[in-house]
Amino acid sequence: MSIFPTLTNKTYVVMGIANKRSIAWAIAKTLDEAGAKLVLTYAAERFKSSLESLASELKQEAILLECDVTNDEAIETTFRSIHEQAGEIQGIAHSIAFADKEALRGEFSEMTRGQFAQALDISAYSLTAVVKAAKPYFASDASVITLTYLGGERVVPNYNLMGVAKAALDSSVKYLANEYGPHGVRVNAISAGPIRTLSAKGVGDFNSILSELEQKAPLRRNVSAEEVASTGLFLLSGMGSGVTGEVIHVDSGYHIL
Ligand code: NDP
Repeated sequence: MSIFPTLTNKTYVVMGIANKRSIAWAIAKTLDEAGAKLVLTYAAERFKSSLESLASELKQEAILLECDVTNDEAIETTFRSIHEQAGEIQGIAHSIAFADKEALRGEFSEMTRGQFAQALDISAYSLTAVVKAAKPYFASDASVITLTYLGGERVVPNYNLMGVAKAALDSSVKYLANEYGPHGVRVNAISAGPIRTLSAKGVGDFNSILSELEQKAPLRRNVSAEEVASTGLFLLSGMGSGVTGEVIHVDSGYHIL
């Protein structure tokens, strides 16, 4: 008997695929492999065609929808449309973050009020906005995951403003898990180790973060997006049915040091 979960006929929404290096893309491929029906969202029209060509690599045909998470109306419209086209929602992978890269280097306190508001809006508040919009359409045992990072728990050089955003995100996961638990909906975060992606490029001296982990983490190597995705599959499927409000570290054990 295979322990690999089967997600046939179940709808999952994956938000945050910028390109083939995106963690969200690894999650989409893993869910597709398990037979899930996928809805992929992109931030703006200009990203649609590159997502279309990526999506053509999936086994199942995916539904592609635009969703800028800074716009409540757009989020509500997207989730209504998902329900109309794909029925109830079994799970959501929220893999979205943004901060002005000037605030991801140098002195922490040099950031501006505007940079702070934007980073917290896109990287933390958007999870709550998305869960709220999906509420009427969730399956009775739905599961939501988001992506976080150790820089929200402790100081990581240059992570600065994004550390504050991740702390807010981690806390949102707990409050959402508590609120939605009675409805059967689970909410968890995966704290991924550093992975070379478009967003990661914005963090000052990212290479040092990678090499520090490689030298010191218990497993003495960096993690892949695919390893993050398989923990995502565990949390998003029935395999993780007893887990909510949790932050699971997929970082070669670096967080224990
Ligand atoms: P990517 O750059 O590939 O993904 C980030 C995604 O966020 C992009 O698809 C981007 O869309 C999207 N996004 C930004 N603003 C908006 C918006 N207003 N509306 C909708 N989508 C938006 O990087 P990652 O895969 O690395 O990042 C995914 C998540 O993983 C983030 O939360 C990140 O903080 C987290 N993470 C990453 C780690 C790493 O080392 N890479 C480590 C730990 C956590 P677009 O580009 O089209 O604007």
